[in-house]
This record gives sequence, C-alpha cells and structure tokens, in this order.
Amino acid sequence: MASVAEIRWSAMKRAARHSCPQCGRGELFQSYARLRGSCEHCGLRFRREQGAQTGSMYLSAAITQLFACALIFLVWFGTDWGLGASLAVGLPLVAVFCVLFLPYSQALWTAIEYSTDAANREAWVQPRNGRDA
Ligand SMILES: [Zn+2]
Repeated sequence: MASVAEIRWSAMKRAARHSCPQCGRGELFQSYARLRGSCEHCGLRFRREQGAQTGSMYLSAAITQLFACALIFLVWFGTDWGLGASLAVGLPLVAVFCVLFLPYSQALWTAIEYSTDAANREAWVQPRNGRDA
C-alpha cells in the first residue's frame, strides 16, 4: 500500500499531465477546461457533486492574483510606463493567464480532492470499472 505522501505526489504529477489522478491512464478533460464525468479506465468520478470544483476557482483566482502582483512589480520597477499603458498591457496578459491556467487549476484541484479522500479511505476513490458513475 502506497503512503499518503506517495499518493499525493503521484496524483499531482498525473494532474500536471491532465491524466486521471488514480490510474494515470484516463484523460481528465473532454475539451478545453471541461472535465469528463469519470475516468474511462478506472471509473474514478472527477465531478462527483455540484460545486466540487469550487476550490479550483479559488485556486485559479489566487494564482492569477499572484501573477498580477508579479506583473505589477515588473512594470512598476522595469518600465517608465504610465497608468494607461500599464493597464493596456497588463490587463490582457492577466486575462490570458487566467484562461490558460484554468485547466491546470481544475486538474490540480481534482488531484487534491482525490489524494485527500484516498488518504481518508473514502469510498468514491475505489475503482468502479467505469460502469456505475
Ligand atoms: Zn483513472
């Protein structure tokens, strides 16, 4: 039996590849930033209840805010741009970053949920043969 740390590390690596955190073989997404209902290989439910991905929105918002802060410091200390030019360049960059990071935040959140629930031995993380989702 894998240790909790091994489960968490494995789930995070698989999520970074957009693969199922449990088996690593199934695809997490059916299209851009749209999670599948469950894994086609092991049956793990990715969307097991309404609001289960709320944490990914918070994660995405927090990381995007960190990106925006870093961008503000770069522009503030690295350029002599005025407010208008800074906003004209910065706002689109932040918006693009947010859109590009969204699937990663969903994948990471799915892995966080999986590894937390696997450590607690909750029933939904047991393989289901993909039939009874
Ligand atoms: Zn799977």
